[in-house]
Amino acid sequence: MKVYFLGTGTSQGIPVIGSDHPVCLSRDTKDKRLRVSALLSWENQSYAIDCGPDFRQQMLAANCRKLDGILFTHEHADHTAGLDDIRPFNFRQGDMPIYGHKRVIESLKRRFDYIFETENRYPGAPSVTVTEVEKDSDFEIGGKKVIPVNAWHADLQVFGYRIDNFAYLTDVKTIEPEEIEKLRGLKVLVVNALRIEPHISHFNLEEALAFIKLIQPERAYLTHISHHMGFHEEVQQTLPENVFLAYDNLEIVI
Ligand SMILES: [Zn+2]
Repeated sequence: MKVYFLGTGTSQGIPVIGSDHPVCLSRDTKDKRLRVSALLSWENQSYAIDCGPDFRQQMLAANCRKLDGILFTHEHADHTAGLDDIRPFNFRQGDMPIYGHKRVIESLKRRFDYIFETENRYPGAPSVTVTEVEKDSDFEIGGKKVIPVNAWHADLQVFGYRIDNFAYLTDVKTIEPEEIEKLRGLKVLVVNALRIEPHISHFNLEEALAFIKLIQPERAYLTHISHHMGFHEEVQQTLPENVFLAYDNLEIVI
């Protein structure tokens, strides 16, 4: 399986509009971060995790010509706002399969009502087929088993996903012990780390590193990064040898 980091930034992306912060002004391409998302691919299958406001640009950057589905972690705009841009895939492939918690699907129905409209649909409107994801119910995509991992973004439930020995968790602040058990024996763990300072709804760097220590994957990649984390090159040097800051357009093979 290949994992392509489509975006590794927090909700505003980096650079932040109008910001004079040194990280926002950095010329290092690794300090440019679109909103968080990843593309998983194997054989002839490709699935995106989340579909934020940079989705169109990300699909172009990854040269993604066929997308077999989108797994949603939660409904926040930085993870969902790009849903209108699935149309080129609809025109070529038909309805886009989407996967998410019932609450996330209901939120999408309110915010993208025209996508879910069954009568008098606008010609060319995006179209989806929905699979509701439930805690403790594995499901299958492209011949692979997906294990939903339940976690908490402050008070908001979020899903991470495990496929084979890879797991992707974002926007996590807390996770229950029985869910941690679903993450044993990982080769690669992707997990959010917002910044150095603590935050109410995201792991900071210290919490993410403690979580990685607990899970003990072979390698871990940090994502959903704010400009307050610091310069990519400088922060990377402070990390344990099996932990990496992800960056946009990084592709790893598992
Ligand atoms: Zn987010």
